[in-house]
Amino acid sequence: MTAPGRVAVVGGGIGGLSAALTLSDAGVSVVLLESTDRVGGTLRSGTVGGVPVDLGAEAVLARRPEGLALMERVGLAVEPSRTASALLWSRGALHPMPRTVMGVPGDADALVASGLLAHPPEGTQLPDPDDDVSVASFVARRLGREVVDRLVEPLLGGVYAGHADRLSLRATAPQIEALGPDLVAGAARSLAAADPTAGPVFVAPTGGVGTLPDAVVAAGDFEVRLGSTVRAIERAGDGWRVTAGAASALETLDVDAVVVATPAPATARLLAGVAPSAAFALAGLEYASMAVVTFVLDGGAQPSGSGFLVPPVEGTTIKAATWSTSKWGWSRDAAQGRTVVRTSIGRAGESLLLQHDDPWLVDRAFADLTTIAGDLGRVVDARVHRWGGALPQYAVGHLDLVATVEDDVAGVAGLEVCGSAYRGVGIPAVIASGRDAARRLLGAGEDDT
Ligand SMILES: Cc1cc2nc3c(=O)[nH]c(=O)nc-3n(C[C@H](O)[C@H](O)[C@H](O)COP(=O)(O)OP(=O)(O)OC[C@H]3O[C@@H](n4cnc5c(N)ncnc54)[C@H](O)[C@@H]3O)c2cc1C
Repeated sequence: MTAPGRVAVVGGGIGGLSAALTLSDAGVSVVLLESTDRVGGTLRSGTVGGVPVDLGAEAVLARRPEGLALMERVGLAVEPSRTASALLWSRGALHPMPRTVMGVPGDADALVASGLLAHPPEGTQLPDPDDDVSVASFVARRLGREVVDRLVEPLLGGVYAGHADRLSLRATAPQIEALGPDLVAGAARSLAAADPTAGPVFVAPTGGVGTLPDAVVAAGDFEVRLGSTVRAIERAGDGWRVTAGAASALETLDVDAVVVATPAPATARLLAGVAPSAAFALAGLEYASMAVVTFVLDGGAQPSGSGFLVPPVEGTTIKAATWSTSKWGWSRDAAQGRTVVRTSIGRAGESLLLQHDDPWLVDRAFADLTTIAGDLGRVVDARVHRWGGALPQYAVGHLDLVATVEDDVAGVAGLEVCGSAYRGVGIPAVIASGRDAARRLLGAGEDDT
């Protein structure tokens, strides 16, 4: 296969940026088209009360290589989180986050003794299902509903802003199915085998995850067109014609290949005429919206852990809080003695909650914070950042959906898709998705580095 001479990458989130950088590093001429006035998608820096913060993603998993490799490639200094000791609000108290495999405990007795659960997990052993099932049904049938509600749900909610009753076991928590018939014994084995010297779980660039997109653009040799919404892609001879721009001033671009790195609804529209089965599958992929409410506080205690999670059964407005100034050295330095706390609100299907105005969300988030964590001092400033339709919901059968998309797209020469809609929403997984899409166009294999 001959590498394409010129490629259009549609969408400037971290998936599209990863594809663009991989292609430009291989000497391909790349045009990246982004509809908004900035690259990064859900990676975004901002300020609250004059203090720099991450308004979107704030941590990169270090247990996969792709995030670290990209930050090194683009020359960013990386720092580990200063603490990884999160807490869990359950049954009226904050508890140290127990060691679990995606919510499955390795020591059930200790959980009950701590008061985090009211009842011991059930321990029913069942064969693995033939087909995909929801995370909740798999775990609840084996360990009881309380483990789902108080352990699995807050962890999944933190990553997917979704519900364990809807999310696919095989797409979102395959490590649970891999534990074997006795889930608690399997979790105990898996946790005992974990390498205690493995290094930090999370890292971030100094200055925050929101600095990564501009660093990729600066390090790469590709053209970025902002404010350039792609309206259509179509075959043109052996290559492709991309139509982009404002409805009143459309421009066309002829390229050899296209990487579509947009969220599923946009991808479905763009693929309708060229990969209809993929488009149809993607049109059914739901997204969750959420809001991040960030506070800058003065005069209160600096909490020591990284923050806390709240299970939905507790009925709070916030589902999690992160003490940014405790978690990140760069944030602590930037805040100059103040405390930065990030809270997140909203799960799939909770659109009514997010229809409240900003002051309401700020008031409710702060009330929850103080109920759970006590006096945090005076609010210097607060900012609500809304992320509409930002997190894909990998529902039961998601991997079949992905297979349909991949099969259809693989049959169309010079077309690739990538991003969080497919095989992981975390930053390293999305970087890998963009890199692998680029490598397929280059005719090279995929690997995990
Ligand atoms: C609030 C929040 C916090 C998160 N926190 C973390 C975290 O701490 N760690 C972590 O690993 N992950 C986190 N995630 C998940 C992670 O940030 C995302 O999964 C990932 O960044 C998605 O990247 P992407 O490139 O697939 O999509 P996006 O970031 O959604 O980017 C897609 C881009 O395509 C553009 N676009 C759309 N349509 C068009 C069009 N027609 N033409 C041109 N451009 C178009 C959009 O404007 C956007 O810039 C978080 C997500 C959210 C929402």
